[in-house]
Amino acid sequence: MKVAVMGVAGRMGQELVRAAHAAGCGIVGGVEREGSPVIGSDIGLVSGLPPLGVPVTSDAIDVISRCDGILDFTTPKATVEFAGLAANARAVHVIGTTGLSAEDEAQIAAAARHAPIIKAGNMSLGVNLLVALARRVAEALDEDFDIEIVEMHHRDKVDAPSGTALMLGAAAAEGRGIDLGKRAVRARDGHTGPRQRGDIGFATLRGGSVVGDHRVIFAGAGERVELVHVAGDRSIFARGAVKALQWGYGKAPGLYSMSDVLGL
Ligand code: NAD
Repeated sequence: MKVAVMGVAGRMGQELVRAAHAAGCGIVGGVEREGSPVIGSDIGLVSGLPPLGVPVTSDAIDVISRCDGILDFTTPKATVEFAGLAANARAVHVIGTTGLSAEDEAQIAAAARHAPIIKAGNMSLGVNLLVALARRVAEALDEDFDIEIVEMHHRDKVDAPSGTALMLGAAAAEGRGIDLGKRAVRARDGHTGPRQRGDIGFATLRGGSVVGDHRVIFAGAGERVELVHVAGDRSIFARGAVKALQWGYGKAPGLYSMSDVLGL
């Protein structure tokens, strides 16, 4: 399978090169934004591997036209552009980028009519299991249990709540049969009044080099159930993304999730 890594010099881009290489994929391209200082450098060297004989380029059109699938953990703007290019090339598009707007999501869904797209706010096996468990527990416990989702990430993360926290919230809302859009409380400050029964609260912490911690709390009167996932390093996301790419190869066009890939 011929693979390209978008945002190849990024934190996740480097992990993706290492994971795709370890999985035996043929890496035919690595793309960075125009003006990046690593353009022309070998993608192996950029990722802490021996040279792979593939230079970093900003020519996404050329790279995507030459590959079977792309691994994309970049920015919403870039991801929407790559979705259009991958759709034209009928290439599998694995999207890990978070912070996508409703408009971005609509454009990605349109691209998925022409090629398989696997998109997840978190690509790790453990988190996707946590999502399934959050749905299950929310289904079992009624509104006597308040749902709160707490997440912590490194100081450079730019979007909040994390894509994973939102996935967990959506799963809990689904389990409870409510609309997250109407019941999410994403920030609290000042005199907020008492908590509304049935709301799903989010709390965001940022600092240091934390890769990603998530906790879903079901707080009842006198007891509490907590589901926790702690990411030790970024390779868990990259391995999941490569697994998704291999799973998507040869699949019909459509928008898929990690639950599809992992059969959860
Ligand atoms: P990062 O800033 O380290 O890397 C992003 C890279 O994309 C940068 O190197 C940047 O130059 C490059 N880029 C930006 N625009 C580009 C363009 N037009 N063409 C080519 N390259 C371009 O960020 P990161 O920590 O690697 O995270 C990237 C994204 O992945 C974020 O949205 C983050 O939240 C998300 N993420 C998702 C998961 C998951 O499992 N789904 C896990 C970790 C991070």
